[in-house]
Amino acid sequence: MRYLSTRGQAPTQQFCDILLGGLAPDGGLYLPESYPEISDAELTAWRDLSYAELAFEILSRFIDDIPADDLRAICDKTYTAEVYCNTREGSDASRITPVTWLEAGEGENHRGGLGLLELSNGPTLAFKDMAMQLLGNLFEYVLDKRGQEINILGATSGDTGSAAEYAMRGKHGVRVFMLSPNGRMSAFQRAQMYSLQDENILNIAIEGMFDDAQDIVKAVSNDHAFKKQYKIGAVNSINWARVVAQVVYYFAGYFGATTSNDQQVDMAVPSGNFGNICAGHIARTMGLPIRKLVCATNENDVLDEFFRTGVYRPRTSAETHVTSSPSMDISKASNFERFVFDLVGRDGDRVRALWQQVESGGSFDLNETPFGAKVADFGFESGSSNHANRLETIRATRDAYGIVVDTHTADGLKVGREHRDDQAPMLVLETAQAAKFEETILEALGAPPPRPDGFDHLEALPQRVEVMPVDVNAVKDFIRKHAND
Ligand SMILES: *Cc1c(COP(=O)(O)O)cnc(C)c1O
Repeated sequence: MRYLSTRGQAPTQQFCDILLGGLAPDGGLYLPESYPEISDAELTAWRDLSYAELAFEILSRFIDDIPADDLRAICDKTYTAEVYCNTREGSDASRITPVTWLEAGEGENHRGGLGLLELSNGPTLAFKDMAMQLLGNLFEYVLDKRGQEINILGATSGDTGSAAEYAMRGKHGVRVFMLSPNGRMSAFQRAQMYSLQDENILNIAIEGMFDDAQDIVKAVSNDHAFKKQYKIGAVNSINWARVVAQVVYYFAGYFGATTSNDQQVDMAVPSGNFGNICAGHIARTMGLPIRKLVCATNENDVLDEFFRTGVYRPRTSAETHVTSSPSMDISKASNFERFVFDLVGRDGDRVRALWQQVESGGSFDLNETPFGAKVADFGFESGSSNHANRLETIRATRDAYGIVVDTHTADGLKVGREHRDDQAPMLVLETAQAAKFEETILEALGAPPPRPDGFDHLEALPQRVEVMPVDVNAVKDFIRKHAND
């Protein structure tokens, strides 16, 4: 299996070669040359597999430059009930991503039902652990094989940074430099990251906003000599390995909600950078019987606008809202380019032309191309949610089912309900646990959310963080002093 760029002008590569990199040299994103098709017989055979076995079956369709036994061992080590142990009471941790029914619906196939696909049982209580834990093990494996080391540099406003740090802690050959905006994350998120004492994890709190931290990362990465000398790498959401790891739980969720392959499910996905739902699109293209993929946004509704109107219009930072579902606060959806590539018949020239418009500060309207009418063929629907909807959904869900959902999942539930019918169950992807967003839960319920075991005294643990001004050179000096070399 080789990988090509969505902009059509980069040489194809193998999986391990794109694993450690970011964008393709032509500015595009990598995708496989074709998607494997899964037969009915394979689907049936996969129903009874453990999550780790299922992950191996799916990943081995995309990865042919890691020997099968090694890939299997990596999957076995990644997807264990010990790592994904933070389940809701009554859920089965051995399933890794169990389904909780809020309303069971009709019969064995749960028609008309409403369920949560639990994706946030990992160490940082957000779905990013699902892919990042695999990435940590893949990085270590490939770097060991090649006798290489890497310094990961990133900026985070919360969930990505902690998921990356918990995935990379203690891994040989990997060092993480994670920039975060000083004093602007929740106390819980700060404690999660800064309490890590692993020698290869380095937290830098920038005295500015998330955008300032992001700009520093960009400036360092644009210094090509520095980047090369210090082997700077990234684990951001456009990383292909993260997307493909996420394909697995769409299959697992489907098997959790159905008993035979003639049943369909709908899935609602709280979306920001389009990485999660892009994996759903790929699963559906491979032949998984997903009827509708419902893209749920918050007040930052770039994606909802696209699916309603055919117009993709990224926002400026000034137009980007700071919301109570902060991990969906995006101005442009980086992984969206992957979907558009498929939508326009995998025509790299066309994608390049569309993104030229976007990158010069503009937008594009697919209705002006032959592809506007095609969007419906891909099963997408969409909607958006706001702060008041979120509070209302958190309250109503607690009152009706005794379950406390997080703010992002609440966006998914609100929009998912609007697109629900009696033909199929609606599974809402639960992307984080409420414990991470205590302030908003308090506002909604007047009481703090439950915390999984072991998180009770998180904020009291000693913290380790370097505070720095908004200064690229200060960050570079710090990397020089602490990098792997
Ligand atoms: C990252 C994140 C999202 C958005 O996922 P995308 O892949 O960027 O669309 C939604 N919810 C939570 C809790 C997240 O951490």
